[in-house]
Amino acid sequence: MLKKVIKWIFIYCGPWSIARLFKRRQSGAGISILYGHRVLEDQVIANKEDSRTITGQTSVSEVIESIKVLNKFYKIISIEKAVELLSNGDVKAESAVLTFDDGFKDNFKNLYPVLKKYNIPATFYINASVIGTNKSLWFQAVINFFFAIKEQEINIPLTGESYDLSSASKRYQAAFGFMRYLQANHKPEEFHSVIDEIAGEKCLPVESDYHMSWEELEILANDPLITIGAHSYNHYPLSFCSEDLSNFEISESITSLEKKLNIKIRHFSYPRGHIEDFNEHHIACLKSNSVISGVSTIRGVNRVGEDMHRLKRVGFPQNISKDRVDFLWHIGGIPQMLQPLKSSK
Ligand SMILES: [Zn+2]
Repeated sequence: MLKKVIKWIFIYCGPWSIARLFKRRQSGAGISILYGHRVLEDQVIANKEDSRTITGQTSVSEVIESIKVLNKFYKIISIEKAVELLSNGDVKAESAVLTFDDGFKDNFKNLYPVLKKYNIPATFYINASVIGTNKSLWFQAVINFFFAIKEQEINIPLTGESYDLSSASKRYQAAFGFMRYLQANHKPEEFHSVIDEIAGEKCLPVESDYHMSWEELEILANDPLITIGAHSYNHYPLSFCSEDLSNFEISESITSLEKKLNIKIRHFSYPRGHIEDFNEHHIACLKSNSVISGVSTIRGVNRVGEDMHRLKRVGFPQNISKDRVDFLWHIGGIPQMLQPLKSSK
């Protein structure tokens, strides 16, 4: 409670602005790049127990609320504009960029009409291998499998483990445990065949897991409000890939989008995007494909001098309707600003 009051004072009574002014004097205004995945109808989100989409999901009304709050405190700009301003050393106003990874169909169905209504630019980072198919990305296939099992527990001989499936969160735990097993014991190019062997039809997407069709993606690509970026071909974790495979994952994702959509791909989002998930080799491969920016999931606000292929992002809020102060606190990069104080203690 005390923490909440302090945050509230920071944001509404000025110290937040003073802290940001101080930071701005040092390195100019900042650009907060937000990232999200699913954007589901409010009633789907409300049904938590049945939801296999708990991670990385936002509801339509939360997106609308976020846009309203962002419009008050930030200038919402495209990723192209952000890269241009950061490169020219010319960030004058606190700005925000909206980005969405993985190319789920709900981004077209639920999010795009909201972006159009409020005239908000956004970037969609796409894994071309699943566009226009009924396939799931490997991690989604694992989640689908653990949610499709009727029993409350399952034993998987391959891992030698029993998995508790007695609630939605336990099913998630089981799925993430299995993903860790896959990454530790199999090459990324084997992931799908291992999952298929264990799960068969159970790893196919349910309706809410579908990805966009090429036709839908083409509509987005032709809209000046929207930027299409690449997110690797199969969403394999790049640092687990051989050099050849990571080159393929990057290059194929770019060229297949360029060919199908007849556009140039200039922006990339690293799968998972943590600091250990990409390296100099991947950045060199992006540069050789003329990609001018790479976004990660390393938290923070971007300022002039930032490495364009290591841009930071903050997660799209899942609770803005309940806690808009916390939302502003995080997208303003206050936790990262306070980090030096914490670590000097
Ligand atoms: Zn992703």
